[in-house]
Amino acid sequence: MNTVRVLQVCAEIFPLLKTGGLADVAGALPAALAAEGARVRVLLPGFPAILAGLEGSTELARLAPPGAMAAAGPRLLFGHLPACGVDAYVIDAPAFYARDGGPYADAHQQPYPDNHLRFALLGWAAAQLAGGLDAGWVPDVVHGHDWHAGLAPAYLRAEAERRGQALAPSLFTVHNLAYQGIFEAAHFAELDLPAHFFAMHGVEFHGRLNFMKAGLYYADRISTVSPSYAREIQHHDQGCGLDGLLRSRAHELEGILNGVDAAVWNPAVDPLLPAPFSADDPAGKAKCKSALQRELGLTRAAGTPLFCVVSRLTEQKGLHLILEALPRLVEQGAQFALLGSGDPALEAAFRAAAEANPAAVAVRIGYDEPFAHRLIAASDVIMVPSHYEPCGLTQLYGLAYGALPLVRRVGGLADTVADARLETLDGDATGFVFEPFTAEALEATIRRALALYRRRGDWKLVRQRGMRQNFGWDVAASRYMALYGILAPHSAP
Ligand code: ADP
Repeated sequence: MNTVRVLQVCAEIFPLLKTGGLADVAGALPAALAAEGARVRVLLPGFPAILAGLEGSTELARLAPPGAMAAAGPRLLFGHLPACGVDAYVIDAPAFYARDGGPYADAHQQPYPDNHLRFALLGWAAAQLAGGLDAGWVPDVVHGHDWHAGLAPAYLRAEAERRGQALAPSLFTVHNLAYQGIFEAAHFAELDLPAHFFAMHGVEFHGRLNFMKAGLYYADRISTVSPSYAREIQHHDQGCGLDGLLRSRAHELEGILNGVDAAVWNPAVDPLLPAPFSADDPAGKAKCKSALQRELGLTRAAGTPLFCVVSRLTEQKGLHLILEALPRLVEQGAQFALLGSGDPALEAAFRAAAEANPAAVAVRIGYDEPFAHRLIAASDVIMVPSHYEPCGLTQLYGLAYGALPLVRRVGGLADTVADARLETLDGDATGFVFEPFTAEALEATIRRALALYRRRGDWKLVRQRGMRQNFGWDVAASRYMALYGILAPHSAP
């Protein structure tokens, strides 16, 4: 068995700190990799929620990062995160990480002006660990996630150049290419990277500094979170300016689909639901629906199809299409419930839709993990009409919870949902898929979903097939293990 030592480097981890799917992945992957024999530790910034979850922590080192990062007086702690079941290195630097607001932006959604330093420190600390900062545990592979960890591969390379000797190889995983961590060029000098790194073949991006590009350029291997997204980001329209670099590294890039953490998302044992249910015994789903209709003040009717959305409210998610289609959805006798937060204009528009028709439309603005479980369990359809979607998790939760996904054919959505058409009902159908990014295409697909809903036998067949899909983390974990094996072939004792 491969007992590779893997250092996961990321900015958030479920259940302690989560802004999106990245946290779900960071929370689930360590256990899945450990089941394959890997010895995993994570490196995280010391956000208050992370520090609060760290048990038995000891100070491993007082860190001496370059330049302005030193002013934060960072210390490296080591301890255990029981909520995540993983040992962790945490950078304790209150001046950087103990702030009101979110991990990346303040309460007004304004990115913190020193984000380049806050996350450069994360990458720098990863390279220190690879260089032997903890003599008792030196990683064989450094695995960074998204732009927050993008400088880890760059600092690894810089340290290797300085020492004349390679450190641990790195894997860099893109969870969302649109968020890149771009900063003014003047900040490059604060990072203490070799001057020649600020180049087109390096961290420079149209005259500015780009953390995502640093990860993509300096990592030994790249992955992203679905096979379709791995292809899409090599093209101009989804490459966010980095498609050329990604094309040049195509042979070192692969798509590994995220999984569902069955310890968190399993309707048969989910303590957050009013009644359990499963593919073989779906009766409890009706109870979940009726309880939710009561909770939200929707008309209580078992036979009324309930459509839902659980999402960050951003342009990426295509929610304006749903706003356009909503009147027709309701006219056709369906109900709609949304849980989300984000863009104030979208929040206001959905609120107005609910106020206009409270018996059929319910909207809860905010971030509410337990409610997300209850809503998906109660719903017949979960809609994810994204403009782009690296993997998407809510459609997978929908499949597991008997809420048929209605998705756009893009990214991970295209890889995980099979369209229900007459000829696929007895085959592989698990949901509804549309292609053009228009309200008309969405409306037509809603009509198809409603038509199938009226054919109860067929509906139950498709729903049961969806619930039996296996999106366990074991599949992804074995793919990551194979990559670690390529990167560090001599790590097994
Ligand atoms: P993204 O990472 O782009 O936000 P994903 O579908 O990959 O999209 O992951 C989103 C995760 O965040 C899922 O676990 C989803 O259930 C959760 N989520 C999104 N919005 C909310 C919310 N308002 N309340 C609770 N959970 C939410």
